[in-house]
Amino acid sequence: MTIARVAVPAATGLNFDYWIPDGVGAARGSIVRVRLGRRRCTGVVVGLHDAAEIAPERVLPIDDLAPLPPLPEDVVALAEFVASYYREPLGLALALAVPPLRRAAVRRPPAPAALALTEPGRAALAARAGRARATAALLARLAASCAGLDRDEIAALCDADRRRLASWRRMGWVAEPPPVAAGEASVLNVEQRAALDAIDAQAGRFAVTVLDGVTGSGKTDVCAAAAARALGRGGQVLLMVPEINLTPQLTARLASALPGTRIATLHSALADGERLDHWMAAASGEAGLVVGTRLAVFAPLPRLALVVVDEEHDASYKQQDGVRYHARDVAIVRARSRSVPIVLASATPSLETLFAVQRGRYARVVLSMRADPRARPPSVRFVPPDDPAARDGLSGPLVEALAGRLARGEQSLICINRRGFAPSLKCTACAWESGCPRCSARLVVHRAPPRLRCHHCGHADAIPRSCPSCGNIDLAPRGFGTQRLEAAVAAALPGARIVRVDRDTTRARGAFDSVRKRVEDEAVDVLVGTQMLAKGHDFPRLTLVGVIGADNALYSADFRATERLAALLFQVGGRAGRAELPGEVIVQTAFPSHPVYRALAANDYGAFARELAGERRIAALPPYAHLVLLGAEAETREEVDRFLAAAAKEAAAALEATRAGVEVHSPVPALLARRAGFERGQLVVQAVRRGDLARFLDRWLPALQALPGRRVRWGLDVDPVAL
Ligand code: ADP
Ligand code: ZN
Ligand code: ZN
Repeated sequence: MTIARVAVPAATGLNFDYWIPDGVGAARGSIVRVRLGRRRCTGVVVGLHDAAEIAPERVLPIDDLAPLPPLPEDVVALAEFVASYYREPLGLALALAVPPLRRAAVRRPPAPAALALTEPGRAALAARAGRARATAALLARLAASCAGLDRDEIAALCDADRRRLASWRRMGWVAEPPPVAAGEASVLNVEQRAALDAIDAQAGRFAVTVLDGVTGSGKTDVCAAAAARALGRGGQVLLMVPEINLTPQLTARLASALPGTRIATLHSALADGERLDHWMAAASGEAGLVVGTRLAVFAPLPRLALVVVDEEHDASYKQQDGVRYHARDVAIVRARSRSVPIVLASATPSLETLFAVQRGRYARVVLSMRADPRARPPSVRFVPPDDPAARDGLSGPLVEALAGRLARGEQSLICINRRGFAPSLKCTACAWESGCPRCSARLVVHRAPPRLRCHHCGHADAIPRSCPSCGNIDLAPRGFGTQRLEAAVAAALPGARIVRVDRDTTRARGAFDSVRKRVEDEAVDVLVGTQMLAKGHDFPRLTLVGVIGADNALYSADFRATERLAALLFQVGGRAGRAELPGEVIVQTAFPSHPVYRALAANDYGAFARELAGERRIAALPPYAHLVLLGAEAETREEVDRFLAAAAKEAAAALEATRAGVEVHSPVPALLARRAGFERGQLVVQAVRRGDLARFLDRWLPALQALPGRRVRWGLDVDPVAL
């Protein structure tokens, strides 16, 4: 009897054995439904064995196969890599690759225009050819032409053959044939063509190319042209984006650049049925291009030929809960395992990526100019945040500049990285300030509806009429958020059409896209919003960008805060001025001579990145070292401290045993020391060589798992992006 070892999505990290009933053709990668105690769940077969690891009479059968093609070997292997590298349970890593199943049984893929044999289909069907004559005959017809059978030919088949085709299609053995070579959309300039040639020269092998191009340099066009070449050779392209909001605009641009290519989008905001359809289109090879966020890195892509990671520096590629993987890094691993080239595109490449370039591991191509020859880099001005003319957070010069844009019929954008009205409420008579009862954080003042809200745990209170501490009725909002600036702009510019864009206004599906359309239709004068607005949106009549509150990042204890600020400033600055309308960036800051601002004024991200890298080298921080963070939380500080002290002791033992070149830091409270009623602490481990860290973790992790402390929740974060 064959036993299937099944990885199930459970935190234990154990795989479970099931026997395979007759007629259930389970193999490695098969998506199966099994019973786990009293629960039923969906798992993935990771291996077949002759005997179970438990007593035979206790082995349960697999209930059934999910109505899905099995995960291809490279996706299973990728999940195995993620599980071992990030030290996460395999079942949870594999669950990222399994599409939502809920409506799988009732959804039908749209009727294909034609069906042809796929590469996996050729192999699988060849293996079983000669069994049934009818099968062989249909196979021969399919194999005879790479265009396959068209819609009329399919309609003319007998019922049995049509059923055969339908089942082969579900298995990914036949699919709509790829379109014939798509044309390149826009005429590329000299730099773009050089970039395209450099990328294209790597076709058919693993190589990383960093597409380092200033905002507006036409990176998207280069990527689309590279995709067109890969599609023209019959390949599939995976394009990763950091944020869902970026997909509609990008997909529309790519659709027009790649006519005839089926584009599938994959991200968590899709309805289950839709995501399943798109997953199937990727799996069957019918979708030439897959555009998606993090989880798209696990999409089945039988003809994968090129991977592109857009805005590769973006921290959203790192999943912060559940399986803490970095989708950019996993994409590189996938490209390597499939021997295909990968492009990392950014105007502000991460220090990790620049480091790899410097070491000669990645190639770098540069787009130094905006693609439109009329466009100039924006001019940059720094103004103090609190001049005498400042009104509710808006400095005098910024108000003046906004008024000028309004008079000329041009658009402006005010960027502030805080949503809500004000970061806190404060008593004017005593020291009381609105604090969250469950977190070590301020409650943020919100208007419409008026509430004090915690942005970490969701706690909400009514706004008090008087100070809960001294009874004073004079309470004042402290600091600024998007809502307060929206009101300030409205007061300063009567008649201006203002739209606020933050997580509160864009929660509904399609909300962000409708804002974008209104800006394009010039029905908006001023956009006020968070960094959501900074990324990748092209608004030709937008000529002024105001940045407020950026100095906050300079106080942060996170060593990556200034790198992130630089990326934000260059990106949001890049929104100002396109084509013939010159752009201006006004930054409200008390520290105009800080290197990050000087770099912005000089339009030289590279110089700033080098300076930051120098600091990191001295401090032995990434990219010059690798970090692992052990985070722990419990209801009391004592429990956290006790656990972390024990963890530190085990770390010392592991260090002693492995003699790995690893430094173990003392446990400290987390930056957010309390969240949702839990005390939080962390312990950082640092190593110059990844191999040392891996050896150390092999020893340390089992020791951690054996520690007592049921009341402590803990987890490892390998390559954390935020401390
Ligand atoms: P990036 O992604 O590098 O910020 P985009 O790809 O958004 O830049 O391109 C900026 C603008 O320049 C887009 O409107 C695009 O259509 C235009 N563009 C790109 N390449 C060219 C070109 N070769 N000639 C003229 N315009 C171009
Ligand atoms: Zn008070
Ligand atoms: Zn809270």
